Amino acid sequence: MSEQKKAWEERKQALFLDKKSGYDVIDEKTIDAMNEYCEGYKKFLDDAKIEREAVKAAIALAEAKGFVPFVRGMSLKAGDKVYYNNRNKSLMLAVIGEASLAEGVQIGAAHVDSPRLDLKPYPVYEDGDIAMMKTHYYGGIRKYQWLSTPMALHGVVVRKDGTTVQINIGDKPGDPVVVIPDLLPHLAGEQSGKPVSSAFEGENLNLFVGSRPYPESEGSGRFKLYVLDLLNKEYGITEADFLSAEICAVPAYNAVDVGLDRSMVGAYGQDDHVCAYASLMGLLDAEKRHKTGVCILADKEEVGSMGVSGMQSDAFDTFISDLCDTQGVSLKECFEHSFCLSSDVTACYDPNYAGVYDPRNSSYINQGVSLCKYTGSRGKGGCNDASAEVMGYVRRIFEENGVLWSVAELGKVDAGGGGTVALYMSNRNIDTVDAGTPVLGMHAPFEVTGKLDCYMTYRAMKAIFEQ
Ligand code: MN
Ligand code: MN
Repeated sequence: MSEQKKAWEERKQALFLDKKSGYDVIDEKTIDAMNEYCEGYKKFLDDAKIEREAVKAAIALAEAKGFVPFVRGMSLKAGDKVYYNNRNKSLMLAVIGEASLAEGVQIGAAHVDSPRLDLKPYPVYEDGDIAMMKTHYYGGIRKYQWLSTPMALHGVVVRKDGTTVQINIGDKPGDPVVVIPDLLPHLAGEQSGKPVSSAFEGENLNLFVGSRPYPESEGSGRFKLYVLDLLNKEYGITEADFLSAEICAVPAYNAVDVGLDRSMVGAYGQDDHVCAYASLMGLLDAEKRHKTGVCILADKEEVGSMGVSGMQSDAFDTFISDLCDTQGVSLKECFEHSFCLSSDVTACYDPNYAGVYDPRNSSYINQGVSLCKYTGSRGKGGCNDASAEVMGYVRRIFEENGVLWSVAELGKVDAGGGGTVALYMSNRNIDTVDAGTPVLGMHAPFEVTGKLDCYMTYRAMKAIFEQ
């Protein structure tokens, strides 16, 4: 190589940003740690298909590490670990740091609700000698993906006497599942000519739950009765109890390895359990803690983050305010100096649909956790646009802690877009940036992530909590 060409190569290496697969960078020890982490993550996915189960599973993991329920008025000192269970649907956890809360808290905000099919208040009926249940979809789904997929029923029913019964059918070994069969191609001529947006109707997402008549019965209601009789014997509920219930139909299968090399995780609900688990475990495992660390696992992100358990709820302000009261610090001062990593998934570059991505500004699988300076749609509408200073702050933390990361946009400008809880945190005067795991097939009943990215999201969260 000529001297001139060598100088040119050196200059290029010094100035160009080289984006490569994380596997070209990490060592065997890191790969072992990654695989071990992902086994725990897959168990969390299986234990926690809906937000209530995620809250329960997260509490169990936290209590095993010494966390106790926070009670307003209790005194707290550095090293204390507390959690607040918000109505069994969202969870806030804190580890008190050495620094005053006036210096702010380090926040990891993820969500534990995922797209699914909720049962309607009057779900059970029969048609064509089939017992059925009506659903109302929750979150942004492509309806056809949920057809001919084995589904389980998860949730709670509050009975007339005020007692609550947990429903969980379809996931335990030997359990039956329910399903919405898709239309056979032989008779889909008319439907196949329609645009996808109108070919599948929400009102037709009705689950098949039985086909046997109640013994020795006649006339209408025999098939519905057989199913209600089973539910009554098992759970002590009647048709009226569905009026005070939350029952979700979710995919019935568990998390699995994907790829012949087992390099990916496939499961329902990885948006945003992948970041929720990373944020939770990052807080639980953080070693040095100067500032107080706070992890919130929020509900209702998929429908706009509203309501008592969503990220817009005052429940978060109340919890931080209660913590501040233990030190005589004002909530406003605490928020002003706080930092939040809004940890939610982003779109992973998919070669089958290359046209919707900007290849220069996409998340590629196994390049690590993906920072999004802004989300939103069209001209960044509805986004949280993190400042250069905030991006610089996070970049320094990731670099200092060996976190593999990249920066990406959700897709091509004007291809669509999306939002996260980030803006609800920054609206509180908290410096916030989006960072999460790239996902393939987001919002589908079976989502795929790269194991290296899952692990690096955890490493990112842990580093944030170690400031
Ligand atoms: Mn999400
Ligand atoms: Mn989502």
